[in-house]
Amino acid sequence: MWVIFFIFGAIFGSAANALVDRLPKGKSWAAGRSVCDKCGQELGVADLIPLLSYLTLGGKCRYCHKKINTRNFLMELFMAAGFAAISYFSGLGIMGEAVVMGILWVTMIIFVMDAETMLVSDWMVVIWAVLVTVLNLPLTPSLVKEGGLGLLVAAGLIGGIWAVTRGKAMGAGDIEIAAVMGWWLGWPKVAVGLWLAFVLGGIYGAALLIQGRKKLKSRMAFGPWLVAGSWIGWIWGAQIVKLLIPNF
Ligand SMILES: [Zn+2]
Repeated sequence: MWVIFFIFGAIFGSAANALVDRLPKGKSWAAGRSVCDKCGQELGVADLIPLLSYLTLGGKCRYCHKKINTRNFLMELFMAAGFAAISYFSGLGIMGEAVVMGILWVTMIIFVMDAETMLVSDWMVVIWAVLVTVLNLPLTPSLVKEGGLGLLVAAGLIGGIWAVTRGKAMGAGDIEIAAVMGWWLGWPKVAVGLWLAFVLGGIYGAALLIQGRKKLKSRMAFGPWLVAGSWIGWIWGAQIVKLLIPNF
């Protein structure tokens, strides 16, 4: 079964690449054929087979022989591995697995698009929120309470930083991401996710500073770290909370 989802994941990864390329330019994601971003040549079916096209062409465009963005391949590979892992490990049943795969898809688009352009697609965040709500069905009072508290804490913290730094340390998009993150993870798992986002983002930012690739005042996308923290927090958050506070 996981082999089928590996192939599905690669196809969804390919679609995610198209969205990351097109959404920031305001282009319709469904309309128009894919073109090489270097030479503008319209790509044929043989150029668009996820994973395989990139490998058989040696990472270069068939027409102009310039390098294809490695991100395309990495996205397809990561989504393929992610879908396979969800089907293999999650044990949620086919409906739950499909929803979690949808969450992986939409959060990867948010992750890569924010990392590359510092833009957050409102649509992708809305779809993420809807998928989380479906995952939480039936919305029991305790789930709503947990998720609502998580949402308030995460959006409150990131929104607070946004307000205090007047939008310099965080963007409005980060508040949207944090809100869905809180709704998804719920309290107290969201605390683990937020903590990880700051630690991982901090380590990455420090590494860039040391290498001289960023200055102290230059901006860094924080959305990708919120997404990474969300996933780790969702998968291992409960164990991490128990480890840190045994009596919780
Ligand atoms: Zn080309």
